[in-house]
Amino acid sequence: MTTQGIVGQFLSLKEETDADLLAMQCGDFYEFFADDAETVGRELDLKVSQKSSHGSSYPMAGVPLNDLTPYLKALVERGYRVAVADQYETESGDLRREVKRVVTPGTLLETSRADAQFLAAVVTDGDGVGLAFSDITTGQFLVTEAATVDDAAAELYRFAPVEVLPGPELRSDDETLSRLREATDASFSLFATEAFAPGRARHAVREQFGASTVDSVGLDSDLATRAAGGVLAYVEETGAGVLRSMTRLQVYHPSDLLELDATTQRNLELTETMHGDRSGSLFDTIDHTVTSPGGRLLREWLTRPRRDRDELARRHDAVESLASAALARERVREVLDGAYDLERLASRSASGSAGASELLSVRDTLSVLPALADAIEGTELADSPLAEVVSRPDRDAAADLRTDLADALAEDPPKTVTQGGLFQTGYDDELDDLIERHESAKSWLDTLADREKRDHGLSHVTVDRNKTDGYYIQVGKSVADQVPDHYRQIKTLKNSKRFVTEELEEKEREILRLEEARGDLEYELFEDLRERVARHAELLQDVGRTIAEVDALASLATHAAGNGWTRPELTEAGALDIEAGRHPVVETTTDFVPNDLRMDDERGFLIVTGPNMSGKSTYMRQAALITLLAQVGSFVPARSATVGVVDGIYTRVGALDELAQGRSTFMVEMQELSNILHSATEDSLVILDEVGRGTATYDGISIAWAATEYLHNEVRAKTLFATHYHELTSLADHLDRVANVHVAADERDGDVTFLRTVVDGPTDRSYGIHVADLAGVPRPVVDRAGDVLDRLREEKAIEAKGSGTSEPVQAVFDVGSGQMKVAEAGDSGGDGDDSAGSGAPANGATGTGAAGNGSVDAAAAVEGSAEADRAGTGSDSEAEAALDPETEAVLDELQSTDVNDTSPLDLMAKVQAWQSKLDGGDGE
Ligand code: ADP
Repeated sequence: MTTQGIVGQFLSLKEETDADLLAMQCGDFYEFFADDAETVGRELDLKVSQKSSHGSSYPMAGVPLNDLTPYLKALVERGYRVAVADQYETESGDLRREVKRVVTPGTLLETSRADAQFLAAVVTDGDGVGLAFSDITTGQFLVTEAATVDDAAAELYRFAPVEVLPGPELRSDDETLSRLREATDASFSLFATEAFAPGRARHAVREQFGASTVDSVGLDSDLATRAAGGVLAYVEETGAGVLRSMTRLQVYHPSDLLELDATTQRNLELTETMHGDRSGSLFDTIDHTVTSPGGRLLREWLTRPRRDRDELARRHDAVESLASAALARERVREVLDGAYDLERLASRSASGSAGASELLSVRDTLSVLPALADAIEGTELADSPLAEVVSRPDRDAAADLRTDLADALAEDPPKTVTQGGLFQTGYDDELDDLIERHESAKSWLDTLADREKRDHGLSHVTVDRNKTDGYYIQVGKSVADQVPDHYRQIKTLKNSKRFVTEELEEKEREILRLEEARGDLEYELFEDLRERVARHAELLQDVGRTIAEVDALASLATHAAGNGWTRPELTEAGALDIEAGRHPVVETTTDFVPNDLRMDDERGFLIVTGPNMSGKSTYMRQAALITLLAQVGSFVPARSATVGVVDGIYTRVGALDELAQGRSTFMVEMQELSNILHSATEDSLVILDEVGRGTATYDGISIAWAATEYLHNEVRAKTLFATHYHELTSLADHLDRVANVHVAADERDGDVTFLRTVVDGPTDRSYGIHVADLAGVPRPVVDRAGDVLDRLREEKAIEAKGSGTSEPVQAVFDVGSGQMKVAEAGDSGGDGDDSAGSGAPANGATGTGAAGNGSVDAAAAVEGSAEADRAGTGSDSEAEAALDPETEAVLDELQSTDVNDTSPLDLMAKVQAWQSKLDGGDGE
C-alpha cells in the first residue's frame, strides 16, 4: 500500500471515531499521522518524521508494536482519548485495519495509579441528578441519585473521577455543566445520547447485573439507572473488555453518608491540601496501609463517612482490638504485605490481558487469606470483627482456585504467553507428551553431530540452524569430500560446506510441528486457566475486599496506637464533648497544646474569638475532623471524646485563606454561606471561619450577625463561628444557646504570647498591633499605635462612665451610622440571660483596665437602633459621648482597617496619619 493509501486510510478511520488521537498498526509499528503525529510528538517527545508521497508530505510518528501500552498510558493520563486500529489479515489474505478499542482516561486498564480510577456518568431531568461511578480496573460500580446539582458536585468531588460522561440534557446546560466541572479535574467526554435513554439503560443494567440483583439492591431511580446505562454502554463501546468483571451493583443513598459538600471536603483537606498537595492531607497523615487496595479503601472511608452507628461500632471494635494487640497487628500487616491487587487482577483476567506472572500473583494473594486467618487465630483478635471480615469470602473456593493455579503454572514463567514454558509437568498429559516429543527431537539434534562424527568418521562437524537454511550439518572443508552419499550439499562457505539429509529435514519438520503444537496448546491451556480465573472474578473481588478492609483497619489501629488516639463514644445527635483534643494533622508537626470542647443542647453555638494566628481555625477544624474521623470508624486525637453522630459537616473558611489562593470572591463566600444556611440541619456541624470579611465592615457585621441568628434560631445546627467582629460576642447574652470561647493569649509588657488554650468567654481585643509588631513595623510606630489605642479605649471608657447614671452603660459601635454610640443596658431588649459564656465579662480575659469598669458585660444594643439609643440616653451623656470629628474619623478608620490586608508600610503610613490627625484635632 502506498503512503498516500496508508495516510488516506488513517484519515478515514480517524473520521469514524470521535477519539482525540488514532494509533494505527502498520506492520511492526503503531503509527500516528498528520496532526496526531504532531500532538504525540509534542506530548511524548517522540521523533516526528516526514513521510512524503505523491507530492504531499505528512508528519508521522510511530511506536513499536510491543511498546504501545506505556505510550497509550501516558497519552491517556494527559487526558487524550486514543483509538487503536489493529491490522489483521482477512480470510482472503487482504490486509485490513479496524478500530477495536478506544482507550480513555476512565477505561484505561493498564493504569499505574494507586487510587481508584472512576469513570462517571451524570444525568439530570432538571430536578434530581443521577450518578454512576465505575472503576473498570476493579469492577466497582456504584450508583446514586442526588437531590441537587450541588449534591451531585459533592459526590463528584468525593469520587474524584478521571472521566465524566455528561448525559444529553447537560450538554446544552452550560451553567450546570460548569458547576460540575468545578468539582472535578476529570475530562468530560461526550457520548451517544441513546445510551442514556431510560428504556435502553434499564435493559443494559438488567443484562449486566441481572434483573433480580437490580431489584434486590433497590435500584428504583430512573436517573441513576440512566447514568448506569451510559457507563455500561461506554465501557462496551470503548472495547476495554471488562464488563464481565463488573459483578456488583451498589446503590447508595447520599443520606446514608455524612453530607460533605465539595467546599468542605476541600477545606478539611481530606485527601489533598488547599494547595493541592497530597502530602499534609488527612489521608496522607493517617495512611499506613501496606497494599494499594487498602489505601484505596481507606481513602474511600475518609471521603465517605457514615451515619449508621452499628457499622461504625464494628469498625471501632476492630480498630480497638488491633490497636491494643501490637504483636498480632504487626503479624497481620506482615501477611498483608505479600498481597497483590486482586480486584485489579480480576479485571485484567476478565479482559484477557493478564499474563502468567499475573496469574501467579493471584495464586500468591489467594494464600494470604488462610495466612490472615492463622495470624488472627489464638490471638486477641480472634473475637474481634476482624475475624468476621476474614471469614467472609468463600475460603474453600479460594483454596481450590489457588490449588488449581499452583498445580498449573511453572514457577518462573516467561513474560509472553505464546512462547511456551508456562506450565508445570503433570498439568496436562497431552502437553507433557508434546513436550517430551519435542524435547527428544531436539536432543536427537543435539547429539546428531557426535553421531555423524562417529558413524562416518568425520571430524569438524557441527549441527546448527538459521533462517534461510533451516537445520543443517556443517562440515569443515578439509573433510568435506568424506561425507556419505546421502548428504545433500546446500551451501559452500569459505572454510566449510553445509549439508542436509532427508532424516534431518524430516526431523526439522517434526520439530517445527511440535513447537507449534506445543505453543498452541500452551496458549490454549493458558486461556482456559485465565478464563477460569475470570469466572471467579467475584471471588477475587471478595478476597481483595477483605484484604483491603483488614489493611485499612490495621492502618487506623497503627495510627491510633502510635499517636495516642482514643476510641470515641458515638451517641445520637447532639453533644460533642472533647477532652484534650488535638488536630490530627497539625499534631504531627507541632508541639500541640490540647484543648477541650463542649457542645450540647444548651451550648450549641460557640463564637470563637482570639488574636490572629492564635489557633481559632485549628481549633474548629479539629472539632470537624474529630467528628469526621469518629464517623469513619477511626479513633480520634483526644483524651476522650463523645461524638453525637451528625448528618453533615459544613464549612466555610476565611476569605483570607482562600484569597491567598486567588479563589475567593465575596460572591463565592456568600454562595457558600447560602448553601450552608439552606442545607444544614439541626443534626449538622457547621464551621464558620470568618463570615463577611470580603465586604465593608458594616456590611460584614450585619451579615455575620444575621447569619448567626438564623443558624441559632432556625437551623439550630451545632456551630463554631470564629470571627474578628468582636461585636458578635455580645450575642451570647441574647441567644440562649450561644456561648463565647476564646483562644487565650498572655500579654506582658506589650508582648503577646499565644497560649493556644481555649477558654470560655470572649476576648476583648484584636491584637492587631501585636501582629503589626510581628510583621516588623518599626518600634516607634508600634509603640505609638499602642498609645493611640489606649487613648481610644479611654475615650470609650470615658464615654461609658459619662452616662450620668449608675446603671451599666456601654459604648457600642453603631453599624448604621458607623459611629461609636452610647447605649443603656436596659434598652436593648436583651432577656438578661447570662448563661454559658456570659459569665466572663467582655474584658475579663485580659483585663487591661481601660474599659474595665465592670459595666460592659451588659452588652446592649443588639438591635443597634440608633434612634432608640439616642432617645434612651440622657442628654448630657449625649454631649459627653460626642467625640470631635477628627477623633471619630480616626476611630472609624482604625475600626475598618484590616491588619491582615494591609502591608506593614501602609499600616505605618496610616498610623502616622492618625497620629497627626489626633495631634491636630484632639491635642495632647
Ligand atoms: P487563627 O485561625 O487564630 O488565625 P490558626 O488556627 O491558623 O490561627 O493557627 C495559627 C498557627 O498556630 C498554626 O500554624 C498552628 O500550627 C498553630 N496552632 C494552632 N493551634 C495550636 C495548638 N493547639 N497547639 C499548637 N499549635 C497550634
